[in-house]
Amino acid sequence: MPRAPAKPDPRALLRWYDRRRRDLPWRARPGETADPYAVWLSEIMLQQTTVEAAKPYFAAFLARWPNVAALAAAAPEEVMKAWAGLGYYARARKLHACAREIAARGAFPREEQELLALPGVGPYTAAAIASIAYDAPVVAVDGNVERVVARLFAVTRPAREAKRELRAKAQSLFPGRRAGDFTQALMDLGATVCTPRAPRCADCPFHGACQAARNGAAEAFPVKPPKAEKPERRGAAFVLLSDGAALIRTRPPRGLLGGMAEFPSSPFRADFDARQARVHAPAAAPWRELPGAVEHVFTHFSLRLTIFRATLPPPRPGIENCRWTELGRLSAEGLPTLMRKVATHAGLGLE
Ligand code: SF4
Repeated sequence: MPRAPAKPDPRALLRWYDRRRRDLPWRARPGETADPYAVWLSEIMLQQTTVEAAKPYFAAFLARWPNVAALAAAAPEEVMKAWAGLGYYARARKLHACAREIAARGAFPREEQELLALPGVGPYTAAAIASIAYDAPVVAVDGNVERVVARLFAVTRPAREAKRELRAKAQSLFPGRRAGDFTQALMDLGATVCTPRAPRCADCPFHGACQAARNGAAEAFPVKPPKAEKPERRGAAFVLLSDGAALIRTRPPRGLLGGMAEFPSSPFRADFDARQARVHAPAAAPWRELPGAVEHVFTHFSLRLTIFRATLPPPRPGIENCRWTELGRLSAEGLPTLMRKVATHAGLGLE
């Protein structure tokens, strides 16, 4: 009869972490106490962003707003501008609202349930802050950790359906001490060893106790759900130039890219009628439709934007709800990635 695999040994994972931990700018060094502000800020940035992409933003935020009170006192537009390029802009709005709430309370809450009540803080982020900053005995479970646990226990349901089971199994591994290190060790293992493709099982402290690896099927977990097609939306953006400046406006505060700067655009819709695109132009001008299109993928849909460009002779006219921004100052507008693509497509260089 085949022997049952050994149970995963969390102490082996902590020993591995002591040797192999990633040196990350928001992370306390061994012996140091973690700063809840740095933990929170980094976790919000990392929600939909890679570590490498988040690093320069984290450094810039910390240099400009070294603590939560400073961030709370910042103007919302400044925070949105500093966030530009990181994507998922609702996070920046909630980050700022959260900073204000914490500043009003006078300190970061320490309890997981209190953290959960803050804007933009979900179960994973609350557990990450509680364990890393305050050594609370909880294990934070993100996508990386779900993958590790799904493989360790060969969980046969897709992660989306098995969240509760994966969390319970992750928590069952908790060794009863070094909560923050344990959470970070699981994260590091998922990010560096138990990777989505070609996991390095021979280097893994759980090797021998991992059911998926034992069956030679590590990459088969987490089990994938059937793929749903992303719906497509279409629209148009209008790049209007005059006397060395481009026409810019601010999107409404709520909704997609809320509060961000943009080249005036049509609504983005599945039934957008390209023949009627010019009715959305911000002003009468000799509009020329540029060949090709700008494509961009959001979480829930993919977008195909037709770009129109026109130039008006000076003097620049005043146009309702819009402003003229000198071309050399366009990058200071904090254009989101979609609008940077529009600028490039229209032949505008952004420094
Ligand atoms: S043995 Fe392989 S599949 Fe299992 S947890 Fe370690 S790296 Fe992941």
